[in-house]
Amino acid sequence: MTKIYAVTGSNKGIGYATVKGLSEKVPNAIIYLLARNTSLGETALANLKSESNGKQISEVKFYQLDITKDESCQRFAEYLKSTHGRLDVLINNAGIIADKSAPVDVQAVETMDVNYYGTKRITNALLPIIRPGGRIIVLCSLMGIMDGSGYHAKFNLGAYSETLRQKFNSTTFTEKDVDDFVAGFIRLAKEEVKTGEPKRKQGGYLESAYPVSKAADIAYMKSLARAVKDRNINVYGCCPGWVATDLNSHSGPFTTEEGADTPIYLATDENLPNGKFFSERKVVEW
Ligand code: NDP
Repeated sequence: MTKIYAVTGSNKGIGYATVKGLSEKVPNAIIYLLARNTSLGETALANLKSESNGKQISEVKFYQLDITKDESCQRFAEYLKSTHGRLDVLINNAGIIADKSAPVDVQAVETMDVNYYGTKRITNALLPIIRPGGRIIVLCSLMGIMDGSGYHAKFNLGAYSETLRQKFNSTTFTEKDVDDFVAGFIRLAKEEVKTGEPKRKQGGYLESAYPVSKAADIAYMKSLARAVKDRNINVYGCCPGWVATDLNSHSGPFTTEEGADTPIYLATDENLPNGKFFSERKVVEW
């Protein structure tokens, strides 16, 4: 049976390389290149076809999708249902870093709207049609690791309060706990703007919205894996590495093809441990 893949935010960067890599690796599939901007999406599709230069062994299609909009997510879900009846693999790749010059409450709201609520919005819209044996992959980041080892630890180990770390180092926290974690961060960022006091730090959070959003993505991925296990849907998270893209003004040492390696591995390899976070194809505990 033809497998159906969907990659959010894939008009450029790691998402684009993921669609391209899948289309050259997986035979006889249909891969959706998703973009919020139609013109950027159509241009990306045309570029992909010419760059692949006959190496494609699957079909790539464009569909417009903005993960911050309920109606856009529902429209895509209904389209997939009526066209294919199902989805095999969802890769939640779309993400942003907010403008650092904006007030911290604006940064918090904008970042979470895409990276956390957007990821949940499209996942919830598509969950009913993801087939048993299907997969959901979430592009997180090592910057979201709350506890770890080696050089990862230097980012965040100890940066969150003991209460938060204990809750999320358990194997029983739920999506509601992650919602509370995110809502708490936004609330504290708003209070901080009003009072001028370091509310986020006092509340036990890191102060930068992006790593907090990625910690939320890892926690969400873990809670979702537990919640959909009975439907035989596997959920994985990953860091693509530090990749040169528009997101970081092309500062990373890795290419987008290198960044797409782990997401493609998680989308295609067999017998991977469910609910785990991967970096360079290896499980990283948090
Ligand atoms: P890019 O900025 O190159 O691409 C991000 C993509 O997300 C773009 O296609 C963008 O669309 C899309 N997007 C943003 N907002 C929305 C939205 N509301 N709805 C749909 N699509 C949207 O980033 P990267 O390729 O670097 O990042 C991809 C993922 O990898 C992100 O989740 C990021 O956090 C993660 N990551 C990246 C790292 C890196 O070093 N680059 C490191 C760790 C994680 P548009 O073109 O319209 O803006």
